[in-house]
Amino acid sequence: MKKIKVAVIGVGNLGQFHAEKYHTLEHTALCFVCDINQARCHEIAERYQSKAIYDFRKILDQVDAISIVTPAITHYGIAKLALEAGVHVLLEKPISETLSQANDLIQSAEEQGVILQVGHIEHFNPAVQKLKQMVNKPKLIEAVRAGPFQPRNLDVSVVLDLMIHDINIMHVLNKSPIREIQATGLAIISDQYDVANARFTFEDGGIAHLSASRISPKKERTLKVYEANQHIFVDCQEQTLFNYYKENLMETDMIEHVFDKRDILTAEIDAFIETIQLKQKPMVDGIAGRNALATALQVHKAMTESKKILV
Ligand code: NAD
Repeated sequence: MKKIKVAVIGVGNLGQFHAEKYHTLEHTALCFVCDINQARCHEIAERYQSKAIYDFRKILDQVDAISIVTPAITHYGIAKLALEAGVHVLLEKPISETLSQANDLIQSAEEQGVILQVGHIEHFNPAVQKLKQMVNKPKLIEAVRAGPFQPRNLDVSVVLDLMIHDINIMHVLNKSPIREIQATGLAIISDQYDVANARFTFEDGGIAHLSASRISPKKERTLKVYEANQHIFVDCQEQTLFNYYKENLMETDMIEHVFDKRDILTAEIDAFIETIQLKQKPMVDGIAGRNALATALQVHKAMTESKKILV
């Protein structure tokens, strides 16, 4: 089968791993790495035997697909030009800064007949995939996504940086529309929210509590789902799932589901390439990215408009 010619735009902390995967995968040829940081661009190009280019616009007619792994504020501008040039795009999250930009990208991909996949990577986590199969009608979803401070991705708040992963999963687990959001956010180190807590009430009565922090002493990525007769606990980092369920009125039991630990970035990129080859719809398409962004922006709104009541 003909190799798919790819480029990675933005080879900072995460982009270097996109480059590594494309270099290693059987069906891809990593032709270019692009970064405005010239020293970094050369370092990664040399490491993965590809060409260094500072301006991504020069190579859009020479590749079939790109990964965009640049800061969020640049996503729309780069993705728009790439999609218009007929290039398949794996775009890191958040899809864009605004809903109108997201809608425009979705439309461009449709018009050009190319793939737009958004980097909500947890969909490729085997424990999250199992969770999606097991959940019926969640009464309560709890998610914690936290990690130590890093001087990266500070162009957006922790809601668009971290919580958006759990917002996206929440929408898959409970498809009911959201009725109400209460949220608090604090800017502690950066000038954007670094800590965020949001409580969602769904039309079907379900509730979700999502908590995100990028100034936490330790890394944590956990999901808990409570519904009639069962409680499921997922550790996304460990890729483990524990299912506590009611056996009868007096007893509960617990099953640990064991998965072969997977490199989820390889799985995500593999899926992107397969989607291109088989001309399929991506597992995480532009609409999923747009819907997660829409809710994330509502969380921001709830934070700025939060009202106090005196008791
Ligand atoms: P980073 O700051 O380490 O890297 C960004 C790189 O992009 C830098 O090397 C920078 O020089 C380069 N860049 C900036 N503007 C550019 C342009 N116009 N053209 C080419 N290169 C440009 O950041 P990071 O942590 O690697 O994050 C990058 C993106 O990946 C962000 O959108 C972030 O949200 C996303 N991300 C996603 C996940 C995930 O789990 N899916 C995890 C981490 C980061």
